[in-house]
Amino acid sequence: MKELPGRLVLLGHPVAHSLSPLFQNAALRSAGVPLTYEALDVAPEALAATLDRLRAERAAGNVTIPHKEAVHRLCARRSALADRVGAVNAFWTEDGALVGDNTDVGGFDAAARALLGGEPLHLHVALLGAGGAAAAVLAAIERWHGCSVAVWSRTGDRSAALVARFPGVARLAGAADEALRQADLVVNATPVGLGDDAVPVPASALPARAAVLDLVYRPGETAWVREARARGHRAADGLGMLVEQGALAFERWLGVAPDRDVMRRAAAEGAGR
Ligand code: NAP
Repeated sequence: MKELPGRLVLLGHPVAHSLSPLFQNAALRSAGVPLTYEALDVAPEALAATLDRLRAERAAGNVTIPHKEAVHRLCARRSALADRVGAVNAFWTEDGALVGDNTDVGGFDAAARALLGGEPLHLHVALLGAGGAAAAVLAAIERWHGCSVAVWSRTGDRSAALVARFPGVARLAGAADEALRQADLVVNATPVGLGDDAVPVPASALPARAAVLDLVYRPGETAWVREARARGHRAADGLGMLVEQGALAFERWLGVAPDRDVMRRAAAEGAGR
């Protein structure tokens, strides 16, 4: 195990809804680590000063909406993956400097492999949304063999800019229908379905063989996942990605692997499963 960080925190705004404290604390207790993971609600204007204080406290932790891009800018060192995505969701302190990484990429990769049941090869992927989560999805898929991604978002400029950053794997779709055509895997990287039963695209529009990965998670399951399953699609919500990004972050902070089953059980319980 590495030297313990001074504190473990989650930085977001808001953060009260987050399941991370629940499953990170379960994993810390199970590993016998004498630290508590705390959620800190930090307004954007207070972020730089908070990070300065956390650095002095030798803190480590996670970053969530809306701070991932700002923390990327504020870290003294970053992993190549964090630079590829342009966002940091896990950080720690090394020799008095903040170091940032992006474990959403590995979290998505593991969730997609679990859903697809193995090595993703020669897949057509439809990606809905063009924000930070979508960039993490593209950074994962560009390492898969022979896969291509049609990116659609309601704001064309944003999806065009994202596609331009991943030219080897991404192409722009002018409409959701166009992205879905031929898709083997459809990924929702918009917040649609987070607070209600809205769906990013109707389940009836999914190609028959497509697997469905919703990055959104909420108590119970998302309506999109329920509707896709009812039509015979393999489907998963964002809870698996959430737990895996957290497990990878735990490894970065402490130098040991957490018990992922403990994390999964705590997260599932917190999500009312
Ligand atoms: P973001 O940077 O704000 O990007 C959101 C994207 O969704 C943008 O392309 C935005 O389009 C689009 N969008 C927003 N509202 C929409 C609507 N009503 N209809 C259609 N498109 C809409 O957010 P993010 O960080 O990428 O996160 C997106 C979602 O992914 C989050 O809400 C979260 O639920 C999920 N997420 C899950 C995990 C996990 O571990 N499971 C990790 C990260 C994120 P515009 O540009 O047009 O606004």
